[in-house]
Amino acid sequence: GLYFGNRYESTAAASDTSSATPPVEKYEYQAEVSRLMDLIVNSLYSNKEVFLRELISNASDALDKLRFLSVTDPELLKGGGDLDIRIQSDKDNGIINITDSGIGMTREELVDCLGTIAQSGTSKFLKALKDSKDAGGDNNLIGQFGVGFYSAFLVADRVVVSTKSPKSDKQYIWQGEANASSYTIQEETDPEKILPRGTRLTLYLKRDDKGFAHPERIQKLVKNYSQFVSFPIYTWQEKG
Ligand code: ADP
Ligand code: MG
Repeated sequence: GLYFGNRYESTAAASDTSSATPPVEKYEYQAEVSRLMDLIVNSLYSNKEVFLRELISNASDALDKLRFLSVTDPELLKGGGDLDIRIQSDKDNGIINITDSGIGMTREELVDCLGTIAQSGTSKFLKALKDSKDAGGDNNLIGQFGVGFYSAFLVADRVVVSTKSPKSDKQYIWQGEANASSYTIQEETDPEKILPRGTRLTLYLKRDDKGFAHPERIQKLVKNYSQFVSFPIYTWQEKG
C-alpha cells in the first residue's frame, strides 16, 4: 500500500499567516525509506558514481512527462524555456546542482515521491535485499537495481530539492540529510531561486566525495552513463 509521511512538527503555527517566512514542516520517512537510506548511507558500495545516472534519469523522466502532457495541454510549456538538463558544480565547496525544466512536483507529490516507496524498482530492491541477507548478504544489489533518488545519499550528506509543478502556483523545497529519520518541506521564497517550472537538486557532497564536483568528472560520467538521454544535458565548463 501507499503510505503518507506523518507531519508531526511544525516550527510555526499553520494558521499564522502574518509571518513573513513560511513554516518549515518536518516529516518522518516511511519505515521502508528509512531502511533504504540506512543501507545506502552505511553501505560499502564502491560504485557511488551511479548517483548521477539515477538523477539524470529522473530529470529525463520529468521532461518526458511534461512533453507528453503538453500534447493535450500546450499551455504547460509556456514561459518555461527549453526542455533540458543543466548540471552546474562548485568543486571548491563540493556542491552539485542538477536542474531540469520538467514537470516538477507539488507539495503532496514531494511527500509521496521522496518520503515513501511507491515505485516498483525500489521495492524489488528491498525484497531482493531481504532474500540475499537470508543468503549471506550482497552489497552489489545497489548497482543491480538502482536505488533511484536516494542514490544521492551515496555521495551527499545533504540534499535540497526545489521544485515547481504547473499544478501549483508555489515552489517547494524538500531537504533531507543522510542519517536522519525525517525531512523538511517549506515554500521557496528566495526570488533568485524561483524556477519557471521544473526541479533543481542540490547535493552537498560528503567530505570524501567532493571530487565528484569537478566538471571534468561530471562530463565523463554524463558521457559514460547518460549518452542516450533524449534531452540536451549541459554541464558547467570552466574557462581554460
Ligand atoms: P523512479 O524513478 O523509479 O520512480 P526514484 O526514486 O528515482 O524512482 O524517484 C521517485 C519519484 O520521485 C519519481 O517517480 C518522480 O515521481 C519523483 N521525482 C524524482 N526526481 C524528479 C524530478 N527531477 N522531477 C520530477 N519528479 C521527480
Ligand atoms: Mg528514478
